[in-house]
Amino acid sequence: MKKTEEVAHDNLATENQKPQQKVEFDWDAVLDGVKKDLYFPPSWLFSIKVAKIEGKIVTLEAKTHFQALWVKNHYLQLINDTARILYGKEGFEVIIDVGEENSWTKETKKNMAPGNNHRTIESHDPQTASFFSSSNAFDNFVVGPSNQFAHAASYAIAENPGMAYNPLFIHSGVGLGKTHLLHSIGNHILKKYGTRLNTFCISAEHFTNGVVQSIKTGSMDKFRNLYRLNCDVLLIDDIQFIAGKDSTQEEFFHTFNSLYTAKKQIVITSDKPPSVMKNFEERLKSRFEWGLTADIQPPEVETKIAIIEKKAEEENIEIPTDVASFVAQNVLSNIRELEGSVNKLFAYSKMFREKITLELAKQLLSNLVKKETPKIITIDLIQKEVSTFFDLTVKDLKSNQKQKKVSQPRQIAMFLSRKYTSSSFPEIGNRFGGKNHSTVVHAVKNVEKKIAKDPSVSNAVTAVSATLEKFITS
Ligand code: ADP
Ligand code: MG
Repeated sequence: MKKTEEVAHDNLATENQKPQQKVEFDWDAVLDGVKKDLYFPPSWLFSIKVAKIEGKIVTLEAKTHFQALWVKNHYLQLINDTARILYGKEGFEVIIDVGEENSWTKETKKNMAPGNNHRTIESHDPQTASFFSSSNAFDNFVVGPSNQFAHAASYAIAENPGMAYNPLFIHSGVGLGKTHLLHSIGNHILKKYGTRLNTFCISAEHFTNGVVQSIKTGSMDKFRNLYRLNCDVLLIDDIQFIAGKDSTQEEFFHTFNSLYTAKKQIVITSDKPPSVMKNFEERLKSRFEWGLTADIQPPEVETKIAIIEKKAEEENIEIPTDVASFVAQNVLSNIRELEGSVNKLFAYSKMFREKITLELAKQLLSNLVKKETPKIITIDLIQKEVSTFFDLTVKDLKSNQKQKKVSQPRQIAMFLSRKYTSSSFPEIGNRFGGKNHSTVVHAVKNVEKKIAKDPSVSNAVTAVSATLEKFITS
């Protein structure tokens, strides 16, 4: 088997357009890379093995069905991203065998002594799992204007759970630090209160699995008691996952009520503010707004530089300022991608013991630079961002649909078109499916009025404006 350095070297050679060589897949090397990125690497992850390699498809095998599913849902993307760093885009695709029984699970079953049911992760019960990553703490969360409000609110809650704001609802686009903050709250509470407070940190997907499992096995009472009676702090990640899942929403509603009434702290994260969440019961959405809602915006260049420098410090690697600012200015979307780029630089520098220079960064991260950034805000861009924010299509915005869920976003998009482009009212009307210029005038006035009164309008205007401004400033 090839050494990691050789594999990476082969791959970089491929990226530099040298003749293609046949490379072997080295699972240990991939796993090493994966380890660095994990929030809470469960020990069993390292017992996953390669079942077969057919051409470029690598099939992994886990000891249990549950582990295989867990890897598929939580780690496969990261495994593939890491493999891509090592072997390039055209390298290997990693999949995992989630069949109920593979050679390994059969063997494990055979070897299991009757009555041996100690609780390891293998006998993991999806109803009860609760963990937070020790590496996601307030200490390594870089605070900047884009996240300082969410950070301050989270810190206040971690200091005095149940006393400050309840619930705290944190929302943002992907990869901007929601999970990091949620786990920081968990870590802080654990450090400050030890076992006096029982903190549950779960994903909404996990909660859903618990509901499904309990319905299947008729153990709903056990499930209810677990959350409603044993929990002092409930940290629930990615609540958007339960959209459209009626039984889970019903269950969560009652869990929320009993925890809330007992003054237990609840923190919820989501990809959207409550007011624009789709397929959620109104009674749940309104409860989400009972406490404090905090958003995280995409980071400014300065915050991105600070995050890069913090990472470099943690890894004990020197990164020159011009490199940090090159990466910060070119990674546009989110902090997860920023970390991916920085990790690629660090990995290279460690493997080949080379200093990171601007030249090297440009070469290794050439994929970033190629992405031409639109430097002006166009009506197209506004329509795209507004429709994404409201989960609509651009076609909806241009349509004549009169329902509020479409007409309000349309008015906001018109308002932003007026604010950010030099287009006239008739031009804007034209670009929205041939609307009359007075329709646009009315829309702009209406949004201006509502910004002062209606948080759902002002939230949307602020969030989309921030995204648009990123396009010109970054
Ligand atoms: P989300 O849950 O919003 O999708 P995550 O919390 O998973 O985002 O963040 C993505 C990655 O970026 C994580 O590795 C996280 O540690 C890192 N990250 C996010 N925000 C910050 C920050 N302010 N400082 C340092 N690291 C951050
Ligand atoms: Mg997350």
